[in-house]
Amino acid sequence: MFDVAPQGLEYHYPGKTMALALARKYRPRKFSEVAVQSHVSNTLRGAIARGRVAHGYLLCGPRGVGKTTLARVLAMALNCQARSPEGEPCGECISCTRIWSGSSSLDVVEIDAASNRGVDDARDLRERAMYAPSGDESYKVYIVDEAHMLTREAWNALLKILEEPPPRVIFVFATTEPQKIAQAAAPVLSRLQRFDLKRIGQDEISGRLRHVLSSEGIDGSPEAIAMISRAADGSMRDALSLADQVVAVSDAGITADSVREALGLVAEDEYIAILGLIAEKRAADVFPTVQRLADAGIDFGVFLAGIADVLRAQLAVALGGEASGVAARTREALAAHSATFTPGDLLRMLGALSEMEPRFRKSGQQQMLVEMLLVRFALIDRSVRIEELLGELRGGTPKQSAPSGAAPSGSAQTPPVPRGPAPTTQTERSAALNPSVEAGFLDAGKGRMTTESVTQQRLASLRQKDPVLGATIDALDLELID
Ligand SMILES: [Zn+2]
Repeated sequence: MFDVAPQGLEYHYPGKTMALALARKYRPRKFSEVAVQSHVSNTLRGAIARGRVAHGYLLCGPRGVGKTTLARVLAMALNCQARSPEGEPCGECISCTRIWSGSSSLDVVEIDAASNRGVDDARDLRERAMYAPSGDESYKVYIVDEAHMLTREAWNALLKILEEPPPRVIFVFATTEPQKIAQAAAPVLSRLQRFDLKRIGQDEISGRLRHVLSSEGIDGSPEAIAMISRAADGSMRDALSLADQVVAVSDAGITADSVREALGLVAEDEYIAILGLIAEKRAADVFPTVQRLADAGIDFGVFLAGIADVLRAQLAVALGGEASGVAARTREALAAHSATFTPGDLLRMLGALSEMEPRFRKSGQQQMLVEMLLVRFALIDRSVRIEELLGELRGGTPKQSAPSGAAPSGSAQTPPVPRGPAPTTQTERSAALNPSVEAGFLDAGKGRMTTESVTQQRLASLRQKDPVLGATIDALDLELID
């Protein structure tokens, strides 16, 4: 998704030229520099210090968390002439530098299984693995990236190597999908030492970004750094590449505005405005608001991800927790709405959002889908009412809820649900979270009926135009009306 800026591209920044992309320049040279993965790097370093290195390792984890980096540091440590007694490579000798840069080391072979799959490559690998490393003391390290892409035949060939490994030959497999290796090559797995790398949290990414930017003499506002960390979605590599992108367009340090401009993000104020719109049930305001965003050229996919972030932050607040990684203004808005949205409301909205996502990408009507989604959010019948009702019931004054108003024609999919006596405390919350307990938002007051009938008309014409859209709206209906 986020392409790394071309290596060697020169960025002109006031007073300096950055010849190296940040992600490359700040790639760790030592185990101690590998962010977050100390549980893995300490074990590997210890194995090297004690001379007890395994023949095969499997590094699992999401993208951008340091799998290949760790594999390279391991290879550096194995071949470093100036290795510390604790097992750290020096990071500066010729061998270390060559391995670190991924360029011209005879002793480290990096293979991308996504492009080198099949039995021929594995045979080739097997033949090559039989050759001794370049020096008496050195190790030959094969780093196989995207290892889950290897074929069963390739794994069988590798299994033969791992059953009788040549001396000083080490295999490091890196994968985002270990379960696929378990399916295709279970016997190989039993011969590998497996490590699971952690996803990198926003705070850790922000900390690293601050360090990198200050080392480069670049100003970065806390809000801007938080925005980049959020967009990086757990990948340190992406965070540094995004910072590169922002630096390339910015003349005055990294500000929230320059991040938005470079990454096509939507201003935090827009999300606050939309949250207010939903809270105040101003469904009719959805259309001009979304149109304004469309005119500004925003990416609706990015926008939806931003809405999800805000709703998730609001959910954290509704559950009595803290909203992390948001600007001060947003935090104030979330606090102001803390009594408006219940966890049930927010869960339903987040559920509808994630339901829509796969179809959203294929639709040619993304703006309409966003409008429909936000209108539905604004019209949603808040579970606060049912919670009040339950409160009254618990108070000993059972009250029959009469269905209010008639549902608009053609949409009466929901039979009225009889509301019995309140269950015990423990189940009340789940009842409140269960949308089926509610009467749905269609039995709303007159003002909302008008908006609703307009919505129904739009929906009918849209269904005819775009079957994907129709299916998505149906799914939303089920999610929100049921
Ligand atoms: Zn070295």
